Amino acid sequence: MPSTVFTGIAELVTNDAALDGADHTEHLGCLHDAAVVVQDGLVAWVGRAAQAPPADERCEVGGRAVVPGFVDSHSHLVFAGDRSAEFAARMSGVAYDGGGITSSVNATRAAGDDELRALVAARVAEMRAQGTTTVEIKSGYGLSVEDEARSLRIAAEVTSETTFLGAHVVPLEFADRRADYVEMVTGEMLAACAPHARWIDVFCEPHSPHAFTEDEARVVLCAGRDAGLGLRVHGNQLGYGPGVRLAVELGAASVDHCTFLSDADVEQLAAASESTVATLLPGVEFSTRSPYPNARRLLDSGVSIALASDCNPGTCYSSSIPFVLALAVREMGLTPAEALVAATAGSAKSLRRNDIGVIRAGGRADLTVLDAPSYLHLFYRPGVPIARVLEPGCRADHAPLRP
Ligand SMILES: [Zn+2]
Repeated sequence: MPSTVFTGIAELVTNDAALDGADHTEHLGCLHDAAVVVQDGLVAWVGRAAQAPPADERCEVGGRAVVPGFVDSHSHLVFAGDRSAEFAARMSGVAYDGGGITSSVNATRAAGDDELRALVAARVAEMRAQGTTTVEIKSGYGLSVEDEARSLRIAAEVTSETTFLGAHVVPLEFADRRADYVEMVTGEMLAACAPHARWIDVFCEPHSPHAFTEDEARVVLCAGRDAGLGLRVHGNQLGYGPGVRLAVELGAASVDHCTFLSDADVEQLAAASESTVATLLPGVEFSTRSPYPNARRLLDSGVSIALASDCNPGTCYSSSIPFVLALAVREMGLTPAEALVAATAGSAKSLRRNDIGVIRAGGRADLTVLDAPSYLHLFYRPGVPIARVLEPGCRADHAPLRP
């Protein structure tokens, strides 16, 4: 493959703390008048344009900003059906308790493989069009052995970050036999799904009658760990609860939502900041009209945080990381730089990856270009579609930005 040098980068955010000559304020590793050389899908060189080595092709980005591709470390893209009426009902005052998931389960089970595959592909394309280069995808709308395995097979066609979420809710047909369902999830279903999954996840939530208790969640996670899967937890979304404690106890890579945290939860997350990331999903609070988690408190306490979309048909049908970034700054007390780092390096850390979420030689060439001279415009211009993935290979120079 020929090498390409991207030039004309007005501002390059690398997240690379070791980059010589960069501005390391707020951990951004920022360079002005920069260039990046890419070859075979990897970054070969990063630095000032004046020092760029020769490459086979040259692509001018016209004075734009380039940032690490967004890492969306929490999504539920494998589903069929439409729950817009449920959203409208919620906006009219109906409370959310996780029960609406059943309608997505019914529609997903009824969909053919090709239909599901096309729905997932369209959602991934929508994400790329908004700057996302890595997406984690969970199962969880099949809830039978066959439908969970099918969901993960389809997800694995578009990402290596696949998560088995058979313990999303207890399906209706098991409502009065919860123990039987947990036994199936940790037995036959896990055996069918583990070959297609990197992670296992559980909705641990005592405030929903459809989700799983601490004891049930522990059994699910330990079975997944024994099958070789990494651990993730949906926890502390609807109220105070055991999710964070359990995630830290078991060394989960991420505990997601973290909307209601006690002082003890925050202390445990801070002590576990090298291993367990708190993934915040403010699109959910927006779409359910709920209070936002206090991201400022987490960062000030030394907790590692990530930001992701939780794109799903019930509580947040948005695939947009720029939208999440704007919410994190406007509603959760983060600075623009802190939010951008959380949705790139932070979410990469929650996936235990160091080849993404950062722009440095040897890492993946996952670059997102902005129709703006600075990353600040991601926050300054909410709702304006300025971010898109910078496709590898040089098809055409970008027209210069208007002054
Ligand atoms: Zn979720």
